[in-house]
Amino acid sequence: MQALHLWTLLATYAVAVGQNQGQKNQECPKLNAQMPEFQKKTVHIKDPGRVEEIICGLIKGGAAKLQIITDFDMTLSRFSYNGKRCPTCHNIIDNSKLITEECRKKFFSFQLLQLKETYYAIEIDPALTIEEKYPYMVEWYNKSHALLIEQGLQKDKFAEIVRESDVMLKEGYENFFDKLSEHNIPVFIFSAGIGDILEEVIHQAGVYHSNVKVVSNFMDFDEHGILKGFKGELIHVYNKHDGALKNTEYFKQLKDNSNIILLGDSQGDLSMADGVANVEHILKIGYLNDKVDELLEKYMDSYDIVLVKDESLEVANSILQKIL
Ligand code: C5P
Ligand code: MG
Repeated sequence: MQALHLWTLLATYAVAVGQNQGQKNQECPKLNAQMPEFQKKTVHIKDPGRVEEIICGLIKGGAAKLQIITDFDMTLSRFSYNGKRCPTCHNIIDNSKLITEECRKKFFSFQLLQLKETYYAIEIDPALTIEEKYPYMVEWYNKSHALLIEQGLQKDKFAEIVRESDVMLKEGYENFFDKLSEHNIPVFIFSAGIGDILEEVIHQAGVYHSNVKVVSNFMDFDEHGILKGFKGELIHVYNKHDGALKNTEYFKQLKDNSNIILLGDSQGDLSMADGVANVEHILKIGYLNDKVDELLEKYMDSYDIVLVKDESLEVANSILQKIL
């Protein structure tokens, strides 16, 4: 009864604040009763009361205070479709027929596949700490990027490589990006993938709107458009904290956007908002795609909402629907 009373008070307060600031009037919702997307069996929450409080804070802040910080591979893009694994930005190149046909030399594809098997297993190994995984991630990126450079990839082939790949964005991506663009909400895509490929994917999907900023590993090409290296410092799965701190200029410009929705799929993604100085409310949504039994508890301890083998953006969209 007391809890119900508190919610009624909070709801009344939120409506009053909304009216004062000319925002869309919203009351603080009860997750299961008023947000049916939370009833899906993919949704796991350790502390629903806390999540309700954060969502309430996000609603009160409205569009003016909101920003999105999101990972790309396996968060905005799908992990699988019809039982088949979907590619990461790197895999889009690894799997490309266009590349392998032209570069049959040196078993390029075979070598990349071997690297992926070895190092992806380390990336998601529940028995290893982030500190233990870290040097292996650096090794993986260095080896795979060296192989890409060896192949002399051509920039002008990327559009076709992406078009012919099996990459897919998560269900509901149009709604997600379009709504955020309509309300001019800053979206920071922070990816340890390959920026040039990522940008081509969201461009082809028609969602690379002007409110979207991509921070990732960008390729460096020679005057003939042939890959010669990568620009800047490497971003890998477990050094996003350092990358976040390098982008404090971006976050400084958004000093009033103190409410954050963070989306990720790795434990490394939890540090993507470390560059934000002024955080009022942060809601962390984590996709758990692999090694679910071993990792669920860890994910539920660190992400506010865990989405297990969930290939949609429905939960995020339902929250945005309440805020915007
Ligand atoms: O966008 P995000 O930060 O998730 O991109 C990183 C992902 O790229 C990792 O989850 C990793 O599995 C994948 N990766 C890959 N091949 C590499 C390096 C990273 O598929 N050579
Ligand atoms: Mg990811």
